Amino acid sequence: MKDLKELKKIEQYADQCMKCGFCSFFCPVYQEERTETSVARGKNYLVKEILKGNQEFTKEMGDIIGLCLLCKRCVAMCPAKTQIDRVVVGARAQMVNEKGLGAIKNFAFRKVMSDRKAFGNYVKLAKAFQWLLPKTEGNIRHLPDFLKALGQGRNIPALADKFLREIVKPVYKPQNGEKPKMKVGYFMGCATDFMYPELGLKFIDFLTKRGIEVVVPESQSCCGAAMYFSGDFETGRLQAEKNIAAFKDVDYIVTACGTCSSTLKDYQKYLPDTEDQKKRFEEFEKKVKDSMEFIIDIMKVKPEELTLKKEFEGKAATWHDPCHLVRYQNIKDQPRAILKGLKGLKYVEMPNADLCCGMGGSFSVYHYDITKKIAGKKMDGIKSTGADIVVTACPGCMVNLTDNVLQNKMPQKVYHLLELVE
Ligand code: SF4
Ligand code: SF4
Repeated sequence: MKDLKELKKIEQYADQCMKCGFCSFFCPVYQEERTETSVARGKNYLVKEILKGNQEFTKEMGDIIGLCLLCKRCVAMCPAKTQIDRVVVGARAQMVNEKGLGAIKNFAFRKVMSDRKAFGNYVKLAKAFQWLLPKTEGNIRHLPDFLKALGQGRNIPALADKFLREIVKPVYKPQNGEKPKMKVGYFMGCATDFMYPELGLKFIDFLTKRGIEVVVPESQSCCGAAMYFSGDFETGRLQAEKNIAAFKDVDYIVTACGTCSSTLKDYQKYLPDTEDQKKRFEEFEKKVKDSMEFIIDIMKVKPEELTLKKEFEGKAATWHDPCHLVRYQNIKDQPRAILKGLKGLKYVEMPNADLCCGMGGSFSVYHYDITKKIAGKKMDGIKSTGADIVVTACPGCMVNLTDNVLQNKMPQKVYHLLELVE
């Protein structure tokens, strides 16, 4: 008898599905693929068949559970509130238990990304060769078609001259020289570290200007999103334990990456193996805050008291909701409050602002054709607003939105919200 440990944990969620098919109207992947296996109902059915012993974890099954952005649009709209993210991630974990990770993911997750120093060294090596890639615009590089897994004409931000880890200090005291109102740990995340270090420095400056002490522990590690959303719970737990240890002496853990904040908060949801681990992951979750909620809900900053940077005066801005903010953390009002409060900026809501941009982490590596079609709808929404700039709060979305704005020859530039304020 097979040990279906990970599937047993999520059986209750698969059982919630009443097969109504309502999710098909909202699933971005189904809207492009039109196959039953691409939508939540089909995935639930197949997982239940495995649990009944009628289906094996074949390669095709692996492809089906891989074909999901984990955007949670189906979860938000499902009348039974079926938690497909848990079903899909649980099925991936079961598959890893049975079939292993495969050579590439095994090397990437367990030998590179889980070791912060090794990860930095490998990215540095890649940086030495990035001049081979043609430039598109500004600091954007163009990945040619022959780079099959990542390429297909994709535009990505160049790796920074200096990574954030190389320029950041371990401790930043409040700029007013007074006793700190609180002490927060800054979690940088890989995209900010390697591609957007100025964003990390900006956030630290924003906090210390307002009387907060910021510490940046060197022992922090990758959040683990790539690993545990791919079903590698073992490496995910390792990342969780490293990060919990790194941030043990702070009032809050803050980050300007929507995917990182959601991933850190959700250790308790996907990863605990024991009751003790669950308790510790839950305690950790309470301290994690995304930049948007931290500024509005904890710091109680009044948006109208913030100053817009001169270069954005008179511009029209539209907001893209990252899935990991709007549906994983219910953060949607805070960024809008800031954008609407900034004097000199005009805010325009885009249609379907909460539609996934199509990135989905490694989804876009394996299914870039579908990513582009989904992003095309996002681009239509942006175009209809006539906005000058697209604003969001997740570096992952920034990468994908920038790529698609360029591919569609649109005039908009993409920014993290923190980049707009003094
Ligand atoms: S996942 Fe929800 S919306 Fe989709 S078929 Fe099942 S019950 Fe209906
Ligand atoms: S999480 Fe998103 S991509 Fe996955 S089944 Fe649900 S709506 Fe579709």
